[in-house]
Amino acid sequence: MQAIIDILKNNNSFIVVAHEKPDGDAIGSVTGLTAFLNDNGKKATALLVDDIPTKFEDIISCPLTRMISANEINSADILIILDSARSSRINLPSNINIDEIKIPIVNIDHHIDNNVNGTVNYINSAAGATAEIIADLAKKMEVSNHWIVSRNCAEMLYLGIVTDTGSFKFTNTTCNTFQAAAYLLSKGVDINKINNAAYFSKALNQLLFEAEMINNHLKCDFDGRYAHAIIPQSLFDKYQFNMKDGETVIEYLREINTAVIAALLYPKDSAVKVSLRSKNSAYPVGPIARKFNGGGHEMAAGITFENKSFEEVDKLLYDAIKEVLEKNEI
Ligand code: AMP
Ligand code: MN
Ligand code: MN
Repeated sequence: MQAIIDILKNNNSFIVVAHEKPDGDAIGSVTGLTAFLNDNGKKATALLVDDIPTKFEDIISCPLTRMISANEINSADILIILDSARSSRINLPSNINIDEIKIPIVNIDHHIDNNVNGTVNYINSAAGATAEIIADLAKKMEVSNHWIVSRNCAEMLYLGIVTDTGSFKFTNTTCNTFQAAAYLLSKGVDINKINNAAYFSKALNQLLFEAEMINNHLKCDFDGRYAHAIIPQSLFDKYQFNMKDGETVIEYLREINTAVIAALLYPKDSAVKVSLRSKNSAYPVGPIARKFNGGGHEMAAGITFENKSFEEVDKLLYDAIKEVLEKNEI
């Protein structure tokens, strides 16, 4: 952490980026850190190439850069990569390879399987969100360097914490998470604004999409302990729904009282994307994702299968989950 503080103090221009298909933590940690740097006399750019969920569009007050060249990145002092477990999923423009980056890289994350090999790496898998790590960093720099933590910065970091912890419901919520959140609230965060955007701003087409998914595509196996759904492209087309707005779709599966593991399978370009969630740490989904070259956290993980049909992927997962549910049987 001290090495990162020195880097922030001793450099002037920063590009801040996160993982592709940005979630609340990717957006919140990138915009929060960018605001923190700009509020303290630095020149920082929030690089978010992929579209952000519609519900967050109105609360992001920091300007977002959507496109950049390798030369522009290399003319900054430092590239900061946040919340990106896999180097292959960093949300750089598709024509830029990470190997083309010649400036020092600071890699800050809370994913246990982070493989981004930065110049400086700070991986804390005990943190509920990358935004929680940034909040700790900001608090330290406020105390030791008199840096300002503005309301705008605090609100973005709060967004990251509240979304990655499911409003402090998930097992990644710790004493430090609440302390970081309390610190951010002391900076004037409007929690009503952030919670309205995160939880009370669903478009009707999404609700109809979710209702039809549950009615027509949900399957429950192993006495209801495994809830899974294949969402065909036709359902996305019918409701004009895009998974960039679908971070919480899988929650309907996890919410089922009998479910221990939930899986959602949906098309992503020509591949099959799988989202996995567990609600019991005796049955983690992280190892299942890693087995198929995916990744993530123990309780929330994902996989991308190239060149496989939905049915093939469903069968592979079914067998892997059967093994986990049987092996860990109490
Ligand atoms: P998701 O199900 O897409 O919301 O992702 C849940 C977690 O798994 C996040 O922490 C992601 O970073 C991680 N993840 C999702 N998809 C992949 C993938 N294809 N490869 C590696 N990690 C993934
Ligand atoms: Mn994330
Ligand atoms: Mn995160």
